Formats: sequence, C-alpha cells, structure tokens
Amino acid sequence: MSIQNPQKDVFIGFDLDGVLINHTKIKIFLAAKRNIKLLPRQTQSEILKSVISAPVLEKIQYELYDHPKTSILSPLMPGAKMILNKLKKKKIKFALISRRKNQEGAIRLMKLRGLWPTFFNEKNSFFVTEATEKNTQAKLLGITHFIDDEKHILGHLNQVKNKFLFDRLNVFKNDDRYFRILSWQNFNEYLSKNKII
Ligand SMILES: [Mg+2]
Repeated sequence: MSIQNPQKDVFIGFDLDGVLINHTKIKIFLAAKRNIKLLPRQTQSEILKSVISAPVLEKIQYELYDHPKTSILSPLMPGAKMILNKLKKKKIKFALISRRKNQEGAIRLMKLRGLWPTFFNEKNSFFVTEATEKNTQAKLLGITHFIDDEKHILGHLNQVKNKFLFDRLNVFKNDDRYFRILSWQNFNEYLSKNKII
C-alpha cells in the first residue's frame, strides 16, 4: 500500500502587498508628508480607508505603488523568504495572485527584493482587478491555501478551502472563517503541524 503524500495536492496562493511586502513604514511616512499621523495599526489596508479620505488615499496609493522613487522603498515582510525557500525546497506549489494595477511596478519591486524570478515569475504570478477574480484565478489553479491581509478578500475566496488572514499588526479578532496568522513563523508552524513541510 502506498503512503499518501499530504503535500501532493497542496497549492499555496499568496497576496503581495501587506503579505510578502511590508508597507507599514512607508504608509506612515506618506501620511506624515500630508500632516496625518498614523499609528502602525492604522496602516492596515481596510483600516486605512476609514482614517484617510478617499482623495488623499488615492494620492498616497499613487506614491506607494506607482511613483518611480517611493514605490520601491518597501521591504520584504520578515520571514517571507524563509517560508518561500522552504516551500521551494519541498517542491510545494505556490503562486501569487495580486490586485496590483501596476504590474510593472510590482515586478520591479519584487526584483529588487529578490522575489522575482527566484520565487515568482510569469508562470506563477497573476494580476487581477477585482476581489472576485482572485477567487476565479485560485479555482483555475487549484489553490488549496490562500494568504491575504484583507478580510473582505478572503470573504470572496469561496473556492479556497484554507484561508489565512495575515494579521501582522494584530488588529483583527479570531474568526471561524479563516486562520489568523500574525507572522510567517506562525504559518510555518501551521505547515509543520499539518505535515505539509
Ligand atoms: Mg494585500
């Protein structure tokens, strides 16, 4: 009798911003430039929308994602490469599904942070527009686990069995609908516990 390989069907999907890339400091800086004092917890995307007006947020997002200078400042999320290296070593499939409008900007930053092409490339990176398209893309690929930092995105991923809320700033409460993780170390523990790595 063959032993079932628990890793065989695992396919992990990653969001980019706020998950693999840490924008906390740059968001604080870009808000401060406009005389808005942000606490780290207020930089979480869903909270940020409630503390900064839409027109100002649009300007901040331009600098964050599109401006040639300010869009390349954000560092990697601590532990991101640790987890990607482990998945790669164990030959576990993974992909990126991001809603970044400016793909070139995303790829430029990923290159600078050593994510592209070492871990992500044209074959396993997908840029979509709407949250529902993340679900469609995840279904197409057969994603079994998805990590995102926005609750409303996870709410759309009804085709993904295991949903993870990446809550580095510890701003959300536990919820039955997803696993809340505070760090990549937390996800690593989950993967070990479930014999995935
Ligand atoms: Mg995100």
